Amino acid sequence: MQKTLFYNAGIVTMDPERRQFNKGAILTHDDRIVQIGRSAELLAGIEPEVECLDLNGRWILPGLINTHVHTSQQLGRGLGDDVSLLTWLHERIWPYESNLNEGDSYISTLLCGIEQIRSGVTCIAEAGGQYVNGMGRAVDELGIRAILARSTMDMGEGLPEKWIESTDQALEIQIENLEKWHGKAGGRIKAWFGLRTIFNNSDDLIVRSKKLADKYGVGIHMHVAEVKEELEFAKMTRGATTVEHLKDLGVLDKNLLAVHTVWLSDEEIRMFAEWDVKVSHNPASAMRVLGFAKVPEMLNAGICVSIGTDGAPTNNRMTLIDEMWVTSLIHKGRLLDPTAVPAETILAMVTCDAARALLWEDELGSIETGKKADLVIINPHSATMLPLHDPIANMVTAMRAGNVESVMADGRWLMKEGQILTVNESEILEEAKKRAAAIVKRAGIQLPDRFQVIDKQ
Ligand SMILES: [Zn+2]
Repeated sequence: MQKTLFYNAGIVTMDPERRQFNKGAILTHDDRIVQIGRSAELLAGIEPEVECLDLNGRWILPGLINTHVHTSQQLGRGLGDDVSLLTWLHERIWPYESNLNEGDSYISTLLCGIEQIRSGVTCIAEAGGQYVNGMGRAVDELGIRAILARSTMDMGEGLPEKWIESTDQALEIQIENLEKWHGKAGGRIKAWFGLRTIFNNSDDLIVRSKKLADKYGVGIHMHVAEVKEELEFAKMTRGATTVEHLKDLGVLDKNLLAVHTVWLSDEEIRMFAEWDVKVSHNPASAMRVLGFAKVPEMLNAGICVSIGTDGAPTNNRMTLIDEMWVTSLIHKGRLLDPTAVPAETILAMVTCDAARALLWEDELGSIETGKKADLVIINPHSATMLPLHDPIANMVTAMRAGNVESVMADGRWLMKEGQILTVNESEILEEAKKRAAAIVKRAGIQLPDRFQVIDKQ
């Protein structure tokens, strides 16, 4: 039994009343938050066995939630810069991903997890690699939370041969993963169904995934309306856009997490709101090749919008802190409206609304009595973040990953004062370098030199 009191802290609760304390305190008991209030009040009634931590003007946020990550792509960072989508897919990422083994996926997830913890993320939604076992093992060791999914494709042109599988096989493997991982690591791991995109998923797979997700009470993680070509493909093969077609198949629902959603019509935004479809907005990745999602319009329609980083080869910066900053800028620029998507909305998109998007709001997303002790301690005393005239805005537009000092999930320290405590960071970095080089070699991926390299190895 461990009780900890954090006091003299700025606290952004993200509770329904959006309470903020400038000199507040939080009492945790093992994995739960048991009390929140003014520092002086909580200190006055404190029991002697409680560990008391004076945060001395640091800030506490709920653990951030990254709703779209490809952890298995972390070793492919830098393989996808400045190329067309087709080159990205056929010459870089498919060869990379199809040459990974389970051990690579494990190390890739560890590396990605370290970057997540260092940027204040305590929960991720994995979009789907091939090896749920490798990813699950890494998540368990990292101490973060994750919703795992397997990348699932039962059709599509140009797929690597080893990925070709029937609809039945694709579903059987997912059911196996779900039964093995759902609720594991003390409840920190959940498993969902993954659908890659309409390019690679048959209607049979889509409909059966939805039925199974409902049966198991879990969600579906799917890239939706990601690129313009997707609309044309869907119209040609299904006679409707992706979203219209998903509606016809009965898949638009509150347990669908639709990722990117860059190419939605106004009518489709209305449909998302009507069916309570959840959205993961990945602004940096979208800007590379896909476009600008209509996030202010979605928010106005009442859609639950969260934020994700996507994978390392689409967004070399895998930090939600950078994504918050990008989100705060691009919609202002697109709409020529400096009031679009304000900082308080963006903080909700990475905390309470993200928890809702992952159907986990009963335990995560805000600092409230009874919720899980997933906390991020921010040290704002840096040249890049001070002064704090408007601390909430600063957390979105000035904060860097370097301001994240300590991170707790499930009442356990994952990082304390900049030191990762759950895994051996330096060993993982070394192993990641070796494995990344070996995968690229195995896959035969060759990047053209950008400059005249004098001492080629
Ligand atoms: Zn993705």
